[in-house]
Amino acid sequence: MIRFEKVSKQYQEGTTAIKSLNMVIKEGEFFVIIGPSGCGKTTLLKMINRLIELSDGTIFVYDKKISEYDIHELRWNMGYVLQQIALFPHMTIEENIAIVPELRKWDDQKIRLRIDELMEMVGLPPAKYRGRKPKELSGGQQQRIGVIRALAADPDILLMDEPFSALDPISREKLQDDIIDLQRRINKTIVFVTHDMQEAIKLGDRICIMNDGEIVQVGTPKEIIESPINDFVRDFVGMHAVSAKEDVQLENIIDQIRTSHTTSSPSFTIPASSFLREALMMLTEHEQLSVEKEGQIIGTITRKTALKYMADSLQERGPNNG
Ligand code: ADP
Repeated sequence: MIRFEKVSKQYQEGTTAIKSLNMVIKEGEFFVIIGPSGCGKTTLLKMINRLIELSDGTIFVYDKKISEYDIHELRWNMGYVLQQIALFPHMTIEENIAIVPELRKWDDQKIRLRIDELMEMVGLPPAKYRGRKPKELSGGQQQRIGVIRALAADPDILLMDEPFSALDPISREKLQDDIIDLQRRINKTIVFVTHDMQEAIKLGDRICIMNDGEIVQVGTPKEIIESPINDFVRDFVGMHAVSAKEDVQLENIIDQIRTSHTTSSPSFTIPASSFLREALMMLTEHEQLSVEKEGQIIGTITRKTALKYMADSLQERGPNNG
């Protein structure tokens, strides 16, 4: 659906933001791009809707080069959501959502019905909220309007650039759940940029890990956790992947993460009351850890057994990892 062929981007000052990148994003997929700050995520996303020009290579959407589309046609078919949603402050919620449908000359009745449908979908009753101004809504509610505004004219593709990162943890979790639910119902192709591994694991059908303008690994959350391709991915995942819900004490899961193959390399000792997250941090430096409870070693764990435990618990959460 979206195909990158040898795409690169040099900014004028000489920064190479993207280096000859090849990638395919499939129709209907929730595709998450993640990596450290400055690795090129935003540049990559903005090249898709031509907010940033390519220096070299080609991007295809539906097998047609993006340079061959009429720019309005291209952008109308791609909703775009940013970290700080800029709703127009003097316009009502309804008017904000109607912008693109009006540009596309939908008739009034169709726009009205679409607004009702979308507002219901994210739990903001239209009768109550459609006439309000943005400042009469909370930050989380405004962001929700930003998301449905991007969906208003029914685009096939949704581009999202850290859309939830400015929100408090509760609104953030709620919106993540909303977007998973939306994706199941409307089946859009979503390209989602984040720097938060937990968010990537929760949302992504596939995750693309970038570093320094290049793709390091693309795979399902399970593949990335279970088979990280190199130290960069392993460290990135190990440090960031354990969400609060899964961050259990080692003594509760030792039967599941104990290895039967201890090696002769020196083993560092960790208390059984430690949390999985702490163990994973230590496992970026030590090959294996002996888990100690009341003076006894109750098992030895390795990075592999700990990551396998996480991958299996993801599997149990179902195909969308929700
Ligand atoms: P990310 O979204 O992963 O943080 P960006 O795509 O924003 O990364 O940036 C990638 C690289 O390109 C960085 O080194 C950044 O400083 C540089 N860069 C981004 N935008 C510009 C610009 N308009 N002009 C020059 N360099 C830029």
